[in-house]
Amino acid sequence: MRGDALSILLRKIKSVEFTPELMQYVHKLNIIRISFASAVVVLFQIFSVGFAQDKPTHITASLTISIIGIAYFIGSIILSKGSIQKIKNSRLFQMSFWIVMLFAMIPYFARDIAFAVESGYVKPINLTLYTIAVITFPVFTIAKLSTIFTLVFIVNISIALTRNAPLGFYVDTVLVSVVGLVTAIIFQYQNLLTICKLQLEIRIDGLTGILNRRAGIEKLETTFELCKRSLEPIAVFMVDVDFFKHYNDTFGHIKGDMALKNVSSAIKSVFARSTDMICRYDGEEFLISAACTEEEASKSAKMLLSTILGMQMKVPGNPISDVLTVSIGYTVYEPVKNHYNADISAIIDKADAAMYEAKNSGRSKIVSLPLNEGA
Ligand code: GH3
Ligand code: MG
Ligand code: MG
Repeated sequence: MRGDALSILLRKIKSVEFTPELMQYVHKLNIIRISFASAVVVLFQIFSVGFAQDKPTHITASLTISIIGIAYFIGSIILSKGSIQKIKNSRLFQMSFWIVMLFAMIPYFARDIAFAVESGYVKPINLTLYTIAVITFPVFTIAKLSTIFTLVFIVNISIALTRNAPLGFYVDTVLVSVVGLVTAIIFQYQNLLTICKLQLEIRIDGLTGILNRRAGIEKLETTFELCKRSLEPIAVFMVDVDFFKHYNDTFGHIKGDMALKNVSSAIKSVFARSTDMICRYDGEEFLISAACTEEEASKSAKMLLSTILGMQMKVPGNPISDVLTVSIGYTVYEPVKNHYNADISAIIDKADAAMYEAKNSGRSKIVSLPLNEGA
């Protein structure tokens, strides 16, 4: 099971698209990391002061870093509770944290390197601290982290070998490196899972589970280009639920939501080919595309209308029918019939105009408009 999840994840990593919405969540994740990292820094400094009571410079440095850490911790908590826009605009805050921490750590690095050169080994506690710093640093690839840990490992072992360090040091180094690497992988794995999940959420409509408007139009654009190239016709449908406000007013929004789910299920059952595109275009409006001729499009539209009528979603007091109905408008783009210049928005507009004609001619109807009329 785990292997499967990992292979799916690895395939997804390649297709992750850093859209503006996704980046906002990534910023939020970074803010959470800062609060985690600053808390770790403060805790470490408190321990460190405890061990160095006789060194005033050490105590001053530790207290300064602790105050900075506390300030960033409070700052990141406030930011993470704020609006996503505030977080998005907090790049300076995020960058400054890593720069300040990097400078604050330079004296420690220098001291530990001097100590390692002199004694032949690095203190595992310091290595752990650096490990945490690296894990929390906003990098996105496991490859980068693995490289850093491998380098830390090689440097430590090399120093130890030349200085004839005790066996305990090798054990410490191996343990800390392995734990660090595994933690880094888990951390990045969680990050990527979140990113993939969010990316899916950004493309899928939460109520009906079909594509949302943006993802639907993207898929339609791709299908449209393919049809143009292969000279195959493509039909675009607009479906709008009739008197849906009345349905909501009669049964309430929860039942209204159920009805929308039923309508989307009906659409899915009629447009079930993998090349068909179904999306929730607006509240109770659905946009569909299918690579098919006018004749097939007409058949599918009729089938959709009768499937929805067959669901018998009763509505007392509905002006046109005692069950919930839809109005369907569609148009067919046929590359061989000289519509080469039609674009997606003109085609959607035409399907929309056809749907409005269906509304105006009494609702629960299907209207088809040819594309060359003004498109
Ligand atoms: P028409 O036949 O002219 O299309 O009339 P209508 O009442 O369907 O059209 P109108 O645009 O006046 O109202 C659409 C309604 O759809 C209003 C809105 O409350 C409802 N709606 C939109 N999205 C949702 C949703 O997610 N859930 C529910 N329950 N209702 C929704
Ligand atoms: Mg409607
Ligand atoms: Mg509508």
